[in-house]
Amino acid sequence: MAADGQRIGHAYIFSAPSAEESERMARRFAQRVLCERGLEEPCGHCAACRKVEADIHPDLITVRRQEDDKGRARREIVVDQIRAVNEDAWILPNEAARKVYLIAEADRMNPAAQNAALKLLEEPPNGAVFLLCATNPALLLPTVRSRCVERRSAEGEQAPEQESVKLAGEYLRAVAAGDRAKLVRWCFAQENLDQRDTQAMIEALCLVVTDMLCARRSDLGLSRRQLTEIAVLAAHCGDYLRVNTGSKHIFGLLAVDTPLGSGNRG
Ligand SMILES: [Zn+2]
Repeated sequence: MAADGQRIGHAYIFSAPSAEESERMARRFAQRVLCERGLEEPCGHCAACRKVEADIHPDLITVRRQEDDKGRARREIVVDQIRAVNEDAWILPNEAARKVYLIAEADRMNPAAQNAALKLLEEPPNGAVFLLCATNPALLLPTVRSRCVERRSAEGEQAPEQESVKLAGEYLRAVAAGDRAKLVRWCFAQENLDQRDTQAMIEALCLVVTDMLCARRSDLGLSRRQLTEIAVLAAHCGDYLRVNTGSKHIFGLLAVDTPLGSGNRG
């Protein structure tokens, strides 16, 4: 088994602008962990690699939002799902030397689930590797994040100053100015953006706010609390867009629900 095994940590966050991309990154990493050749990159040919690709490897366990009776994904990943992971993680792997748990959309774990995950990450069972996928890692508890190695997609990393990032910046500057009327005017001016551009703007907003929370970007004087609230609001907007809510409604929401601080940092 992997000669470089000890170089693999026990917890990672894979963040990308889309859930699909973050899961693709995590899956590739899982393949590397489980590959029989144990190289820096998965060989892609061994039985383990092929099983990961076909999503039938018994030691790669994927956790995702459960479905309700109507087959719709629930809003959150709940604590029972993480408890089940905790129980399973103490059982020896079937075929590989490790067990890999891929948590899709880990930033949708509710607070109880995140606390259960934290306990798991604090005392990880031997040989278990946890891969948390996220489009908005700022929604994860700082204590969870601090226990993970964070990997961002190249796409998110090099995001050029595209239109969507520019718009997110304009919005945040309007928020930082603390002037509701100005913010509302700005929001009204964006109402005619099409669904796609609105989605891109919201995704860019999530990334920019995450960067600000991690001090990778100037926070424009916004408080952590404000940034966290904006991150939550942006995630809600993302949810609404996924069920085809129109741009007009999204910008209306931003105009009204954006927290405007008193200008004090806190
Ligand atoms: Zn392989």
